[in-house]
Amino acid sequence: MKYVILRDDDTNALTPIDCLERLYRPFLDRGLPVNLATIPNVNTKATKSDGNPELFLIGKSSPVPKYMPIGSNQKLVEYLQGNPGYKIVQHGCAHEFVNLKTEFSIDDRPDICRRLDEGMRYLQDAGFEKPTTFVSPYDRLSKASFEEVSRRFKVLSTGWYELRNLPISWIPNYAIKKICKQRHWRANGTTLLTHPGCHLSFQRPYPNILDRIKESIDGQRLTVLVTHWWEYFREPQPDEPFISILHETAAYLATRPDVRVISFNDLTTNQIPLN
Ligand SMILES: [Zn+2]
Repeated sequence: MKYVILRDDDTNALTPIDCLERLYRPFLDRGLPVNLATIPNVNTKATKSDGNPELFLIGKSSPVPKYMPIGSNQKLVEYLQGNPGYKIVQHGCAHEFVNLKTEFSIDDRPDICRRLDEGMRYLQDAGFEKPTTFVSPYDRLSKASFEEVSRRFKVLSTGWYELRNLPISWIPNYAIKKICKQRHWRANGTTLLTHPGCHLSFQRPYPNILDRIKESIDGQRLTVLVTHWWEYFREPQPDEPFISILHETAAYLATRPDVRVISFNDLTTNQIPLN
């Protein structure tokens, strides 16, 4: 059996419900879980490293407070809770740069702890379950962030792991992962996932996306597919060809008998083989 986890990043208090509904109805109707890496308290003035506004703020139409907890958009919360196929995981805290560093590539441990705990509280205050899984903005974490995330979460989903950023006590497990050529591993009781880049991106050649997804699924036991809802709506008109590819992916995943689409939560039972 092969396992696939679909991870969509950057849902926040300004995310239009219509966007999620348009993208994920075919998944929800087929019973395929959609893991939304949700920003607990979005910085509505967040910019990318080039200074341009983050595209996950495209839902912003009128002046809004600088920070907006997810619970401030009650309609969105009700929509997400009304569709149990959505699985909420924690995506940073405010998804902002701090002194030119990404939110969790900083080394300031007290600030890291505050952001992790505040983020968790914003999700719970909105009525979501305590998140078991963490996704760091831009998939970047400092050594202190790895340690503090592993104290609080059962699963970390990120792109890759670099030896120089890892806590020293994790290095033996990391060495085993490298020697055994494992994609995913564990340290300090936390499941540490990688993903094969963002196949589902508007920056990839559209005709090849589904083939790349199939190759990834065939090449490993557990594949995390990462996408971003706003990429499909970055122009005034929805990107219909790209949306079609996402929906073809849903059909493909649902019809392959040897593939099970699971949630990050499903990994916490330790009954799903990682590699
Ligand atoms: Zn993000």
